[in-house]
Amino acid sequence: MNKNIQFIDLKAQYEHLKTRIDKRIQEVLNHGKYIMGPEVFELEQKLAEFVGVKHAITCANGTDALSLALMVLNIKDGDAVFCPTFTFFATAEVVAFAKATPVFVDSDPVTFNICPKHLEKQIQKTIAEGQIVPKAIIAVDLFGLPANYPQLEAIAKKYNLRLIEDAAQGFGGSIERKRAGSFGDIATTSFFPAKPLGCYGDGGAIFTDNDEYAELVKSYRVHGKGSNKYDNVRIGMNSRLDTIQAAILLEKLEEFPIELVNRNNTASKYQDKLSKKVITPTVPDGYFSSWAQYTVQSEERELLSMELKDINVPTMVYYGTCMHLQTAFAYLNYKEGDFPIAENLSRNVLSLPMHGYLPDDLNYI
Ligand SMILES: *Cc1c(COP(=O)(O)O)cnc(C)c1O
Repeated sequence: MNKNIQFIDLKAQYEHLKTRIDKRIQEVLNHGKYIMGPEVFELEQKLAEFVGVKHAITCANGTDALSLALMVLNIKDGDAVFCPTFTFFATAEVVAFAKATPVFVDSDPVTFNICPKHLEKQIQKTIAEGQIVPKAIIAVDLFGLPANYPQLEAIAKKYNLRLIEDAAQGFGGSIERKRAGSFGDIATTSFFPAKPLGCYGDGGAIFTDNDEYAELVKSYRVHGKGSNKYDNVRIGMNSRLDTIQAAILLEKLEEFPIELVNRNNTASKYQDKLSKKVITPTVPDGYFSSWAQYTVQSEERELLSMELKDINVPTMVYYGTCMHLQTAFAYLNYKEGDFPIAENLSRNVLSLPMHGYLPDDLNYI
């Protein structure tokens, strides 16, 4: 029963795209330009077109993409960067890695995304305490739904903060047809295989309309290179996307709009089937989700997960521990109860299988 329902079915996708992907990979093997080959630049152009921004710059993974964005914005020791506590670890990790301080923010109970009201409270509190200097906000498009950028952009402007969009899960989503990756000052995504647009290894990208930021990212991703190849003008990192991964992504990006439609059909069918049993996710008017995850809420999540396991339907918990309760962030001295909405989500969320190749009728639930 239900033997073939995968949480994310990369095998079904590969079978569907096999001829095209194999051909693209073979072309790279033939020309042999494994680093910064022509596919990398072709992909960057197509990504920029898809997202609707001036510059898309690829890199090694979504975590590096965030780190590169923080380097461009010169985030450093003594700076405060506001981010949601209910997210994947990397969002907050990169802030600490840059030696700045993550200041956590509670979630909106309906969208799971950073709560603009609580964000403003945390900014005012940080200013009043005067220990660290507010510099930037990292908003996350959690589970594929873009954060509330109209309100976030207004807050960033009011307090003169830079806004970073972490679209690792949001790629393919939009607000009023403006695509994820185009919000804020600079945006990032990940091509980890399980993300809405994934490659066959690690990969990431940075998006911006700002020419100066784009030039800086291109320098930082290759050891802080200057215009002369052997004169490095700043301390950077080695964070390039492999040509083979770019080749794979070119074919997957081609198919991506169709997959997005399929994911949205799956989401509406889940909604029909489950809305009486659990709290199903809400997409606000004008918003479009890429459904990186289809995440329901239930106070009986263990039971639901076991019931589904019995009929061979896999489920996952994203995320069971908020950032403020992670061992690595114990030095920030947060405690349980500090972010009640996010903590409640972490206790009740359960993600169901979601990809572009699920059976039409969802007969497995
Ligand atoms: C996956 C993810 C990242 C990191 O991406 P990697 O490519 O795995 O480094 C960052 N932020 C969020 C929200 C993610 O889901």
